[in-house]
Amino acid sequence: MWDLVLGKLSKLSVVASLREQLVLEKAKGSELKSEVQTLKAQLASEQSNHSKTSQELQKLQAEHEEEVRIWDAVEFRRGKRTFDRYKPFCPKCHMPLYGGGLVMVCSGNCGWSCNMKPDEASQVASGFNHTEGQTNAKITMTLATPTVIEQIS
Ligand SMILES: [Zn+2]
Repeated sequence: MWDLVLGKLSKLSVVASLREQLVLEKAKGSELKSEVQTLKAQLASEQSNHSKTSQELQKLQAEHEEEVRIWDAVEFRRGKRTFDRYKPFCPKCHMPLYGGGLVMVCSGNCGWSCNMKPDEASQVASGFNHTEGQTNAKITMTLATPTVIEQIS
């Protein structure tokens, strides 16, 4: 008789415990469904933002697209910011160069300069601008080869 009561009590305890676990698992499942919905909404928002950012990046890249030519150590760039004319730029930081006396100096204060004279830079740029659109055009410039006289890295 006592064993029968203990057996019934034990079964009741196990059933109660399983019911309690079931309620907890259902609550967890509900929480997880809610979390999944939140994460899906967040993912959709992030994907939309990524798409907009990619489109904006492509638009900006197209706006700032430049052709680059190198004459010895100097970059000559042509694009919207140079009114579609080749102009000398720093090969180190890509800021415009300016004539500083007898040398070309970086306007970005990166410390880069070379002994290409401002007149020579103009002639090289003019040569590049002049040869645009001509097929198999040869640039004939007889200029002294510039050398980098100061470069701080
Ligand atoms: Zn520079």
